[in-house]
Amino acid sequence: MSREQQAVQQARKAFLTGRSKPLDYRIKQLQNLKQFIKEKTTDIANAMRKDLHKTANATQLFEILGLEGEINLAVSKLAEWAAPRPVNKNLLTIADDVYIQPEPLGVVLIIGAWNYPIAVTLQPLVGAIAAGNAAVVKPSEVSSHTAKVLELLPLYLDPEMYQVVTGGVPETQELLRQRFDHIFYTGSSAVGKLVMEAAARHLTPVTLELGGKSPCYVDKNCDIAVACRRITWGKFANCGQTCIAPDYILCEPSIQDRIVEEIQKTLLEFYQTDPKSSPDYCRIINTRHFDRVLALMNECTIALGGESDRSQCYIAPTVLKDVLPHFKIMQEEIFGPLLPIVTVNGLSEAIQFINAREKPLALYVFSSDKTVIKRMLAETSSGGVTVNDVLMHYTVDTLPFGGVGNSGMGRYHGKHTFDQLSHHRACLIKSFAMEGLNDARYPPLTAARLRK
Ligand code: NAD
Repeated sequence: MSREQQAVQQARKAFLTGRSKPLDYRIKQLQNLKQFIKEKTTDIANAMRKDLHKTANATQLFEILGLEGEINLAVSKLAEWAAPRPVNKNLLTIADDVYIQPEPLGVVLIIGAWNYPIAVTLQPLVGAIAAGNAAVVKPSEVSSHTAKVLELLPLYLDPEMYQVVTGGVPETQELLRQRFDHIFYTGSSAVGKLVMEAAARHLTPVTLELGGKSPCYVDKNCDIAVACRRITWGKFANCGQTCIAPDYILCEPSIQDRIVEEIQKTLLEFYQTDPKSSPDYCRIINTRHFDRVLALMNECTIALGGESDRSQCYIAPTVLKDVLPHFKIMQEEIFGPLLPIVTVNGLSEAIQFINAREKPLALYVFSSDKTVIKRMLAETSSGGVTVNDVLMHYTVDTLPFGGVGNSGMGRYHGKHTFDQLSHHRACLIKSFAMEGLNDARYPPLTAARLRK
C-alpha cells in the first residue's frame, strides 16, 4: 500500500470513530493549530525567506495574521455555525421541526500552492477542522522549505485525523486516485482541470481556487497618484506571485505616461533605487518560473525596470507600455513582477476587453466617477472585485473568496470555509399527530380530497 493510500485510510478510520464531531474536539484542534503557528513562527519565517526571499514582517502580514484571525473567528463562532439553522415552513409542516443541519463531509484533501504556502494550505484546514472533517494536507513541493515545516503539523494535531503528505506531482496524482469526500485545490487552472477530472471518478465535490489575469482599469477621472501607490503595492508584493495581483492595467492613452511616472515614484519609495538589495523585495520561486516570466517580456516596450539576475531569480519591478492584446504576455497569467499597460479608448472598450477574456479571479477599477464604477460592476464578472484599491477584498472574512468560470469554483474564508466543507443536511422532524392533514396526499387521489 502506498504512503498516500495509507494516509487516506488512516484519516478515514479516524473520521469513522466519530471523535471529530463534538465541538470541543474541533476547538481543541484549532487551538493546537494556533499553537503550531506560534511555536513555529521563526521556522516558518526562515523557510519563507529561503523559498521566496520574504521578510519575517511580510510573512507575518501576508500569511500569519489572516490565518490567526481565521482560527480565532472559527473558535469563537463555531457553536453558532454548527447549530441547526431553522428555516421557513410550509402549511403541511407548520407543526414540525424544519431545519438545516451542517454536518461533516468526511475526509477532505487539501492541495496547496507555493506562493503563499502557509495561508493557502492552512486556511482551508481551519474550515475542514471546524466543520468536523478529517483532512489530508498536501503542501506544494515548489516551496520546499515551507513544506518541511508543514510536515510537523501532526505533532500538534490529532495525527490520525490530520495527515500531511509531502512530495511532487506523482504523489499528488497518487492522492488523487484515492476516494475523498471533498477536494480543496489551490493552484493553476490547468492542474485544476486534472484535479476535477480525478474527482469526477469518485463523484467527489471540488473547490478550485485558481488564477488568471486580473484586470485593473484606471479611469482618467481618479486620484492617479493614490491609485498607482496601491497598484504598485499589490502588483509587486511577493514579486508579483499573488493570485489576485493586478495582472495588467487598462487605461486611456492620455494617462499612460502619468501612470508610469507615479509607479516609478512609488517604487522608489517602497524599494529605493536598487530593489535587488531591498529586504522587502521578493524573488521568483525558481529558475523555471524565472525563465517563463522573463520570456513574457519579449516584444514589449520597457517603461520601467527590466533588469534580471538568474542566479538570484531576481526580476526587477517592471512596467511595460503600449502592450498589444496579441502579445504573449496578454495570453497567460503573468505571476511575476511585470505590469503591462494596455491602452483602450474609454470605459466601454475596457469592458469589452475584459468580457472577451476568461472571467478573472479579481477585478479592479479606480475611478472617482460613480457611473464608471457602476457600469464596470454591472457589465463584467469576476470572482471578487475591489474598487479604488487592490487585493483588499481578500482580507474581509465575511466576503466569500473564490473564482468564477476559469478562475475557479467554490468559496472560502470565515464562515464560507465552514459552509464549503460541510454538508447542509435538510431535516424535517415530524410527529405522529394530525394524521388527518395528510389525507390529501394518500390514494385514492380524488379531486374532492385535493380540494380539502
Ligand atoms: P503548484 O505548482 O505548487 O501546484 C499546486 C499543487 O498542484 C501542488 O501541490 C502540486 O503538487 C500539484 N500539482 C502540480 N502539477 C500537478 C499535476 N500535473 N497533477 C497533479 N497535481 C499537480 O502551484 P501553481 O499551480 O504553480 O500555483 C500558481 C497558480 O495558483 C497561479 O495560477 C495562481 O493564480 C494560483 N493561485 C490561486 C489562489 C487562489 O486562492 N485562487 C491562491 C494562490 C495561487
